[in-house]
Amino acid sequence: MTGKVLEFLGETKLELGPAGPRKGQWRTGRDEDGILWLVLDKQDSSANTISQDVLRELDEHVAGAEADLPKALVIRSAKPAGFAAGADITSFDALSDDGADELLKQGHDVLDRIEALKCTTICVVHGAALGAGFELALACDLRIATPGASFGFPEVQLGLHPGLGGTFRLPALIDPLEAMTMMLTGKTAHTDRAKSLGIADKVVEERHIAAAVRAAADGKVDAHEQGLKARALGFEQARSLVARQMRSKTEKQAPEEHYPAPYALIDLWEEYGDDRREMQKGEIHSFASLLKTDTSRNLRRVFFLRQNLKDAGRGEDGIEHVHVIGAGAMGAEIAAMAAIRGKRVTLGDVQTDPLGKTIKQAAKICKDKHLSGIETRDALDRLMPDPKGYGIASADLVIEAATEKPDTKEKIYAGLKGRMKKVAILASNTSSLSVDALAGASPETARFAGLHFFNPVSRIDLVEVVRGEGTSDETADRLAAFCGSIGKLPALVTDYPGFVVNRALTPYLMEAMALMNEGVSKEVIDTAAIRFGMPMGPVTLADQVGLDIGLHVAESLRDNLEKPMAEITDDLRQKVEAGDLGKKTGKGFYDWSDGTPHPDADLSEAPKDLTDRLILPMLDACVEVLRRGVAESEDQVDGAMIFATGWAPFRGGPMHYAHTRGPKDIVARLRELQEKHGDRFAPDEGWDSLG
Ligand code: NAD
Repeated sequence: MTGKVLEFLGETKLELGPAGPRKGQWRTGRDEDGILWLVLDKQDSSANTISQDVLRELDEHVAGAEADLPKALVIRSAKPAGFAAGADITSFDALSDDGADELLKQGHDVLDRIEALKCTTICVVHGAALGAGFELALACDLRIATPGASFGFPEVQLGLHPGLGGTFRLPALIDPLEAMTMMLTGKTAHTDRAKSLGIADKVVEERHIAAAVRAAADGKVDAHEQGLKARALGFEQARSLVARQMRSKTEKQAPEEHYPAPYALIDLWEEYGDDRREMQKGEIHSFASLLKTDTSRNLRRVFFLRQNLKDAGRGEDGIEHVHVIGAGAMGAEIAAMAAIRGKRVTLGDVQTDPLGKTIKQAAKICKDKHLSGIETRDALDRLMPDPKGYGIASADLVIEAATEKPDTKEKIYAGLKGRMKKVAILASNTSSLSVDALAGASPETARFAGLHFFNPVSRIDLVEVVRGEGTSDETADRLAAFCGSIGKLPALVTDYPGFVVNRALTPYLMEAMALMNEGVSKEVIDTAAIRFGMPMGPVTLADQVGLDIGLHVAESLRDNLEKPMAEITDDLRQKVEAGDLGKKTGKGFYDWSDGTPHPDADLSEAPKDLTDRLILPMLDACVEVLRRGVAESEDQVDGAMIFATGWAPFRGGPMHYAHTRGPKDIVARLRELQEKHGDRFAPDEGWDSLG
């Protein structure tokens, strides 16, 4: 092959065949064997999205290929970040207003045209091919993946289903049940799984891409063939039976009244699963209708809330080496996450036991995150148990995650004086102590802050970066950038009891205890919260967090907040004294020996004001932290609550929900609750400014 261009982008050498410089969004070139390369290289962006201009230009290139048929057509990405992140979500709002059907149809026409080309079409995928990116790959005859490639349809997370042919192309390619599961759950198929499912026809190292493309063009790569199951599901009766099972399974995860998209997809498949033409029409129509639902609008809002928090974490952190003090539930995972993301990490503890467990735990996190053997080895190499604290002297950031006792922390800080580098930052993971109070004991107030991770650190994206009065801007910015560099979402907040998330969450947990005290069953309470849209009820959540930790935070908030909270119940204290701390001990309010409880109670006898008693105090606390300037903006509060607690995402966040329901209505309701149940429901004065 002549005219070969090897693109050097960072450390990644991508085989781009003969593709020339970018024109529009694509780079193209035809090699001497007659293979046409179309390389997507979105302008002014480090990642590819499938926007209207990408599809329009693609249409022109495919028309060119029709007029002068190449031996084969190759589609791939020039971005080291991966193949394509999906459709351009910024355009969805405009699309949802008008003309969505027509625009979707134009997109379908382009992909149909690729599918109908009279030469072999090959998609080369490195990194992620998501949503519309995956659909583009599916329109090709063959998919060649490099190790690390992944394929997925995350549309359900936006209140949608695939809209560019995925609903019929994936079930036609692989086991239809696996295809439906991928679309209904949004779960990604990583390389090995993609190969075994038949999504990827071949997996080769990047350096062998040119040879693999040539072999495919010569007909030497066999396309995946479907099995018997696909044929059986060609019959409507068989699909109806399976569709019923899918609906009842989905109902447990995502009730139809809150999440219509999965049900729309199941309906489509049941009705048109054997008729591609009808399925295509149905997909376009259904996608266009879903775009207009409140659920999809709110979930798209959540997508942008994530982007905003991500943006807060961009920048240089200047942190290569992190020393973590305390290898307990939090410290061990903080250390593991930092090591996985490329930081050199030393980890100290006064006990040897937790240190011993850390490496095993880190290896498990690597596995859960689908790291390759080499990546896992490298991450574990970067993580060093350091009981004597030798790492303190060279660390750029010291994270204290030791026992939640002021004197323990103060003693640790005293021991750090004169040992840390001059420019190093000290951050505490405290959840209930005042950052300002701790700052007094720290070696240098300007380089001290709170860095509040949530449990489990490996799964919860949010981190509150808590500025004390003396914390410098530079320290806060570097900590936010550190969060970004280890894949977390930083929320920059100021010091306040419970910061933002625990300030809002604790009244919800305490109200649940008060309700139990009044004789309402835990199952009824939890079911009411789940029906509202919370990922789990407050009693289950309290058990999961740990009743000792919940009690500690509640006491701290009770002592430090102006506003009263529900009384801490004797029941809670007795459970903590008895050592029934919840999930971690196997028993709390629930018995966890058979796994996570899934309460589903009859609510006909439930108190009428149950849901409002649980939810409104959270909204009120959000208004309070905004009024006090603890949080920066309503969007930040919504993002923090969603990414730390899973707060009903389809409602767009607590503040968004407050606006949807109407601040006046909420204030009136809070006043009623105040009259009936006490001053803990008194509306915050911040509501006045919300209108
Ligand atoms: P933990 O009890 O699981 O671990 C604390 C660890 O600190 C223990 O291994 C202990 O041996 C070690 N330690 C105690 N004194 C030490 C010292 N002088 N030097 C070094 N190590 C010492 O506690 P945890 O749940 O991991 O909590 C740690 C911190 O994280 C606390 O400040 C807590 O408030 C905060 N936090 C906890 C959670 C949670 O849900 N567990 C959530 C957010 C924040």
